[in-house]
Amino acid sequence: MKLRIKTEISARHLHLCQKDLDRLFGPSHRLKVRNKLSQTGEFAAEETVSLYNKHFRLENVRIIGPIRKASQVEITLTEARRFKINPSVNVSGDLKGAASIGVKGPKDRFVLKKAVIVAMRHIHASPAEARRYRLKNGQLISVRVGGRRGLTFENVIVRVRPNFRLSFQIDTDEANAAGLLGGEWGEVII
Ligand SMILES: [Zn+2]
Repeated sequence: MKLRIKTEISARHLHLCQKDLDRLFGPSHRLKVRNKLSQTGEFAAEETVSLYNKHFRLENVRIIGPIRKASQVEITLTEARRFKINPSVNVSGDLKGAASIGVKGPKDRFVLKKAVIVAMRHIHASPAEARRYRLKNGQLISVRVGGRRGLTFENVIVRVRPNFRLSFQIDTDEANAAGLLGGEWGEVII
């Protein structure tokens, strides 16, 4: 069975714990919803921060809500090179090998220690979709996309959660490598 899957692209962003949010924006700060994200129950907040170190700086980096237990910054490998840091390519939530980065908000600036990762390319699936297409949480598959810069993405990890819908999730570096703008169809290769 041929399984086609729609591409969604994530730009750099960060998730914050309440303690770090309070330091950056003031005590008991609550994130304002800018827009809801398509499927994760998460939202892009109005609030942004700057990421910095002595080599490079990124302004207006979007916070994704709601708050989490641990702060986590997701950037591309291109951005990591500019910062001269070497974060691990990890599944979201896994901070093993994460790098450190300066973060600045309206109230304070400080170093987020071991918080920066490059998100591992993945597909989202609901439990029903996973059953239907015989996908298992944590399984590695490949996804092929066509077009002038068509290529096959290997080591795509399957993530199954009730609020997920079938989609192929990559970052802006990966999208640019394949000439994708989001919404293109890929083919799952198991
Ligand atoms: Zn994220």
